[in-house]
Amino acid sequence: MSIKQNLQQIKDTLPSNVTLVAVSKTKPVTDLQEAYNAGQRIFGENKIQEMVQKWETLPKDIEWHMIGHVQRNKVKYMAEFISLIHGVDSLKLLTEINKQAAKHNRIISCLLQIHIATEETKFGLNEEELITLLTSEDFKNLKNIEIKGLMGMATFTSNKNQIKKEFSSLKSIYNNTKETIPSISIISMGMSGDYQIAVEEGSTMVRIGSSIFGVRNYK
Ligand SMILES: *Cc1c(COP(=O)(O)O)cnc(C)c1O
Repeated sequence: MSIKQNLQQIKDTLPSNVTLVAVSKTKPVTDLQEAYNAGQRIFGENKIQEMVQKWETLPKDIEWHMIGHVQRNKVKYMAEFISLIHGVDSLKLLTEINKQAAKHNRIISCLLQIHIATEETKFGLNEEELITLLTSEDFKNLKNIEIKGLMGMATFTSNKNQIKKEFSSLKSIYNNTKETIPSISIISMGMSGDYQIAVEEGSTMVRIGSSIFGVRNYK
């Protein structure tokens, strides 16, 4: 199936309130252009340098999402154009994003990443760390960032009940967070293998790569 057909098939199954981020990491710009021609405007990348190169080449009405772990010293390269940073997991990183956003006279939208998986390798805050961050004075002084919601990744497992439980825990943390920040509206959860479960559990944004572009080759 073509990229266009894959996109259509996924969009047909998504409720209208769920935003599709096409995860194009490692894929050539010709693949992104094909998705663009099929109407896709939101792309997710996990390496800043790669995203910058694609941003320079492709049409300027694309919304770029950074979905990977962000190194503080690289925020400056994307501050001019980034639409949403999904994986923010510390006040230090938020402070740097705020500083770089101010240089470009803009407010950068961010999601806070919550650790819901059992694997140690997946980044993110636990609920206590989230509350500490959101209630700190330093956080309240950041005027050039806006928290739009939360992001999480489930454990890589075939156990659907476990995945469901993890997404459900993110949804409940989201509900609690909404009492502190009523303006939040995004729960970014769900990838090719588990997005249907994520949507059932209340996802409003899915990040899908291989089901659109095919398997990735890492060299
Ligand atoms: C790569 C990646 C995805 C997409 O994964 P697929 O399984 O190819 O859909 C989603 N979210 C994050 C954070 C990723 O790094």
